[in-house]
Amino acid sequence: MLKLASHFSLPSRLVVFNTLTQSKELFVSLRPGKVKMFVCGPTVQDYIHLGHARTYIFYDVVARYLTELGYKVRFVLNITDVDERITEEAQRTGITPLALARKYSRYFVEDMAKLKADTICRFEPMIEQVSLLIRKRHAYAMNGWVYFDVSTFPNFGKLSHQSSSELSLRPLELSVRKRDILDFALWHPETLVEGKWVSPWGVGSPSWHIQDTAVTASLLGPQYDLHGGAYELIYPHHEAEIAEGESLTSLSPFVKYWVHTGLVNIKGEKMSKSRGNVYTVRDALRTYSGDQLRMFLLSRHYRMDMDLRGIDSAAKTYSRLKRMTDKCRRAAGVASRDYDDDFLQRFSDAMNDDFDTPLALKVLGEGVASTPNLRSTAAAARRLASIRAATRILGVDLGLS
Ligand SMILES: [Zn+2]
Repeated sequence: MLKLASHFSLPSRLVVFNTLTQSKELFVSLRPGKVKMFVCGPTVQDYIHLGHARTYIFYDVVARYLTELGYKVRFVLNITDVDERITEEAQRTGITPLALARKYSRYFVEDMAKLKADTICRFEPMIEQVSLLIRKRHAYAMNGWVYFDVSTFPNFGKLSHQSSSELSLRPLELSVRKRDILDFALWHPETLVEGKWVSPWGVGSPSWHIQDTAVTASLLGPQYDLHGGAYELIYPHHEAEIAEGESLTSLSPFVKYWVHTGLVNIKGEKMSKSRGNVYTVRDALRTYSGDQLRMFLLSRHYRMDMDLRGIDSAAKTYSRLKRMTDKCRRAAGVASRDYDDDFLQRFSDAMNDDFDTPLALKVLGEGVASTPNLRSTAAAARRLASIRAATRILGVDLGLS
């Protein structure tokens, strides 16, 4: 990817809101010039909906922007393909859970390709991590189950900012087998989920919480830069990941920046399978192009919830911009190797302020609209080269490449 010297270069002035500290922090990677990031992918029990797509497209833009800044980015997204929700859906449809998971994993990758986001998917057995947690006395086995012993991790609650008394009001996984109501499962016996992994605790399968830490430990190492996902995953899922990760390695922080996205609502209600109000990416692609959907999903700041009702106006804005780029091309003539400094400065200022994509899209729109009125073809050509760079970062194709 092309590096744009003065505006997109290291060290950056990128500021990121960190859920862990509840504040905007200057982004400084753990190792100079490298970023390792991880995002919780979908549990593949059905087609993905626009709420899922919003999360994955946002981190796709984060990875694109970090790459443009000059970082070498390793971005891993894990598909959860063993889970009791998959088993339940499989029982309803009469195929095996693994066949169902394979089917929807494939559809997920296809849908994301249409939205032009890269995905990397891995799944690995987690027996080694669970065994080590038991050896370090952070976990215990009980009748085929293994639980994490939350009393051994005093920082439990630090991501969701809950005191122990607040946590005790939100007990996890009610079960008489547990020593404490906050302990969470690391290993399930096979009665719950179809899994064929033989473990020291019997045949069973790993819990959702341990799947992600096992993936990140093997692909990203014991500590990494950025962990993403929707904010509804903060507790218990991400809290559990921190407890596992830091207990396994005794290194802290397990993740430097925790970055969380908002939801997509329909008429003020969260889009979810259980509410039966999902709008799948497949359905949306029958009406809108992948570029229009990206434009819509980036049109609200990632930390805020958004409503589906803005989708038509975002699609129209995209189509209008695309039409206007023809005029820009005519005004610009031959391609320029130079850039419009002022435009790129405003664009990078927006992105550097906690990935303010709505403002970045506004800068882009104004930049496109005013190009035909620039005083010279050289100025228009510089602007066009800069617009092209901006659209590459946002992954929104205006037909300029
Ligand atoms: Zn996860």
